[in-house]
Amino acid sequence: MEYQAKQLFAKHGVAVTEGIVANTPDEARAAAEQLGVVVVKAQVKAGGRGKAGGVKLAKTPDEAHEHASNILGMEIKGLTVNRVLVAPAASIQEEYYFSFLLDRANRQYLCIASVEGGVEIEEVARTNPEAVRQIAIDPGTGVDEAKARAIVAEAKFPEALTDQAVQMILALWKVFVEEDATLVEVNPLARLEGDVLEALDGKVSLDENAEFRHSEHSEFEDKAAADPLEAKAKEKGLNYVKLDGEVGIIGNGAGLVMSTLDVVAYAGEAHGGVKPANFLDIGGGASAQVMADGLDVILNDPQVKSVFVNVFGGITSCDAVANGIVGALDILGDEATKPLVVRLDGNNVEEGRRILAERDHPLVTVVPTMDGAADKAAELANA
Ligand code: GDP
Ligand code: MN
Repeated sequence: MEYQAKQLFAKHGVAVTEGIVANTPDEARAAAEQLGVVVVKAQVKAGGRGKAGGVKLAKTPDEAHEHASNILGMEIKGLTVNRVLVAPAASIQEEYYFSFLLDRANRQYLCIASVEGGVEIEEVARTNPEAVRQIAIDPGTGVDEAKARAIVAEAKFPEALTDQAVQMILALWKVFVEEDATLVEVNPLARLEGDVLEALDGKVSLDENAEFRHSEHSEFEDKAAADPLEAKAKEKGLNYVKLDGEVGIIGNGAGLVMSTLDVVAYAGEAHGGVKPANFLDIGGGASAQVMADGLDVILNDPQVKSVFVNVFGGITSCDAVANGIVGALDILGDEATKPLVVRLDGNNVEEGRRILAERDHPLVTVVPTMDGAADKAAELANA
């Protein structure tokens, strides 16, 4: 969200005014009493807030109160506004666009800069492509002062702002690198009265793969907006992605799970068009606890009608997995209510199947082949 991006900007020396976050109209009024003339800005993880009526100028604290009561609770691109940022109103002379992003296709970073900012950059790119400059950044050398000057020249930022723009670009590069971001965007980067350059809006995407070295980033997570099942799975350390379908999937190994999704989607065509309900890779050690955690998440998906457990015993042998399934069903007890189709193969498969046959759980059907099991799971989901 903008206010969080601005916190990161401030931390790395980007010229920015942080403002005050308000959760209620009264808090917005109090903030305006402190700041004077303000803008009240919806805080949601989406752009185009201005166009949607989520950015309003307030000349008095009462006006700030009124705008906040209108904006709080508003929906912007399907997201509910739960807080607003109250920021001192700036006198804008010009609006520019600036961003650093990861350019995966070319295996490098990219800087996009334009003197035609404020509006959506896609729009400028369509109507006036010449005004949108793209500058490649070699990941090996990054952005030093010379590169920053080259960017300023290429973007044609006004001469009077050159030094400020160079400092701004270096600071934004620090945000990009030190926070492990995949996107750092400023729109508008504003020229204020008196030729002062300031980041009036901010958007930062953080790289989840770098989470392990940024425990402080967890405070930016919008837990209220996260899918509750995905949040629960994450808490338990499971690789789970919710999909729109009826057949719950558990497998070991990302490749096997991906092919399981395909096979189930195909089998579903003959059974009312049922689809896989999720991706879930329980990885190597399929202990009873991991299996129970996985089943627990999947069975709590109200859309799920059947579950397909597809395991290939490698380092973890099939008997360990079978014990995991039996143990999980015991742990879950009455909470396990949906039919389970199990396909086991690989290391020690006979013993694994024997354990499942011996337990003879009423919800479990063992099918020897992947295609056969997918068909059975789809059939049960459609029943
Ligand atoms: P977005 O629409 O979600 O990108 O939200 P922005 O923060 O970019 O705000 C949209 C527009 O509101 C900006 O392009 C500015 O024109 C205007 N705006 C934002 N902050 C201020 C401010 O402090 N003063 C003035 N006068 N306008 C502002
Ligand atoms: Mn903006």
